[in-house]
Amino acid sequence: MLRYLIAVALAASTLGHTTAALAQTEDSANWAIVIHGGAGVIERGAMTPEREAEYRAAMAAALARGEAVLDGDGSALDAIEAVIHGLEDDPLFNSGRGAVFTAAGRNELDASIMDGATLNAGAVAGVTQVRHPISLARAVMDNSRHVMLQGEGAETFAREQGLEIVPPAWFFTERRWAAMEQALGALGLDIPARPEGAPAAAGVDHGELERDAREHRFGTVGVVALDRAGNIAAGTSTGGTTAKRWGRVGDSPIIGAGTYANNASCGVSATGTGEYFIRLTVASRVCALVELQGLSLQAAADQVIMDELRALDGDGGIVALTPAGEIAWSFNTPGMYRARQSEGGEAVVAIYGDED
Ligand code: ASP
Repeated sequence: MLRYLIAVALAASTLGHTTAALAQTEDSANWAIVIHGGAGVIERGAMTPEREAEYRAAMAAALARGEAVLDGDGSALDAIEAVIHGLEDDPLFNSGRGAVFTAAGRNELDASIMDGATLNAGAVAGVTQVRHPISLARAVMDNSRHVMLQGEGAETFAREQGLEIVPPAWFFTERRWAAMEQALGALGLDIPARPEGAPAAAGVDHGELERDAREHRFGTVGVVALDRAGNIAAGTSTGGTTAKRWGRVGDSPIIGAGTYANNASCGVSATGTGEYFIRLTVASRVCALVELQGLSLQAAADQVIMDELRALDGDGGIVALTPAGEIAWSFNTPGMYRARQSEGGEAVVAIYGDED
């Protein structure tokens, strides 16, 4: 938007209009935001009305947090951090509290963030004690010479940066533990001991557990935002995939695969089976199609998700946004928790494939 308005204003000034037009239009870039909370086989009738209402409320609250930052002239990066903080604290989502378990019974969290104005980026993989992995990714971007930190080293850096450290049991939820037990059972693998500090075993809603397994709900969270200065940023946070093994890392913390932002084209956050998103470098590929082939954002998103990802048998989706404020989402699963809003427009929250 800003780039376009400046071009229009410059053209106007060469035609003899005053340069005040430029100053006026520079202030008028509209903010926009698009959020996902994971994709999967999410179908009407397979979710209780209460659960559906909880997800819709959580997505609406996430939008409101983003709006509060962007409407107050905050940066896209700050909006992303604020939105993802809330989602990382919400056990409904597979990020922060509510993250899925590895086969060893741990929560290993991945996150990344990218600034489309500078192409600076930060990412972390396999952290187990940082309450807000997205803030650690931001700290890596802002306060280190590196782009990606993992494991213990990332946690040492988090402590040095004064970020909030929590015991691993902070991330424990019975629902995810039961899902991990079920996945390990299907693989014929041993069930690990419950983590130290985890609450005593509690009953789970077996109907919901079965739906979780059948629906393959991923639950990763991601945000792309455009601020009034015309800058795009993107961020993603996840616990990865249930019963992952051997220090597996997915696409979410990989710049270009799960997250990408570039003011020259677009911003993208992805969710789905990370192995496929890594192979296709999904996030940067969508932006490259926009920048180099002149595709519309929606056409680029659909080409990568509906055609290329599907051809590999990969499942999942993305949310995306251009500096002109064009928003797109695309997913090849029956549903994706998602929401969008543009300055002055209505908030849209959707779950199923047949919604807007
Ligand atoms: N993409 C994430 C991963 O593979 C999982 C997800 O999006 O749910 O780690």
